Amino acid sequence: PPSLAVRSLAYAYPDGTQALYGVDLTIARGERVALLGPNGAGKTTLVMHLNGILTAGHGSVSVAGLPVRPDTVKEIRRRVGLVFQDPDDQLFMPTVRDDVAFGPANMGLRGEALDHRVKHALDRVGMLDVIDRAPHHLSFGQRRRVAVATVLAMEPEILVLDEPSSNLDPFSRRELGEILRGLDITLLMVTHDLPYALELCERSLILSGGVIAADGPTRGVLADA
Ligand code: ADP
Ligand code: ADP
Repeated sequence: PPSLAVRSLAYAYPDGTQALYGVDLTIARGERVALLGPNGAGKTTLVMHLNGILTAGHGSVSVAGLPVRPDTVKEIRRRVGLVFQDPDDQLFMPTVRDDVAFGPANMGLRGEALDHRVKHALDRVGMLDVIDRAPHHLSFGQRRRVAVATVLAMEPEILVLDEPSSNLDPFSRRELGEILRGLDITLLMVTHDLPYALELCERSLILSGGVIAADGPTRGVLADA
């Protein structure tokens, strides 16, 4: 099965605002996809459906063949690794090691298996050397990379990033871009940074007014936008 399959997904907020109208989307394993679109387009609403923060008013979402439902939500949250826009929403432990260990420990990993999982995740984002530091002593760019590691430590099926390049200086932005491009993982990135989409994602979607207005190779999607 594909990493992600969204079928006829429609959603209205309790106040009646219709945020999504029949979204269909398939992301194959290993694809890297940028999710573009103006403010209010429904990007956040769509992302919140991918890991069951919101559940489909209408339609369906499945991750590697497993449908998102109340009884699968725990496993879905392991499979869908969500990196928030603000790393400080994701880092709350005294050390980097504790933050990255939190998820896998919660899944039952212990001892050497846990230690290996933590180190491997930090190594993938080039942050192994700060394992014993306090997250709040790191730079913003470092904190964002550690936030990515906390998610990678769950070994998700798909990595979903909300505005990964926001608030980064040009050097940190490029460094993170190289890391993300080098990961062997299915990736969905919400971004307003068009050069980032072009550099990192072979495919882009434009969500506009709650519908997918474009879906194709990034270069073509950006040229037509
Ligand atoms: P984006 O992430 O693309 O900016 P959102 O998914 O946040 O778009 O919003 C899609 C639409 O849903 C917008 O019209 C927005 O105002 C509305 N919306 C978002 N959150 C809520 C909410 N909690 N209650 C009511 N309407 C909302
Ligand atoms: P983003 O930068 O991810 O697009 P927004 O600025 O659109 O986020 O929204 C920030 C928060 O405000 C979100 O939690 C969203 O659900 C909420 N929100 C957006 N529009 C509305 C709305 N019309 N009514 C209530 N909440 C909203």
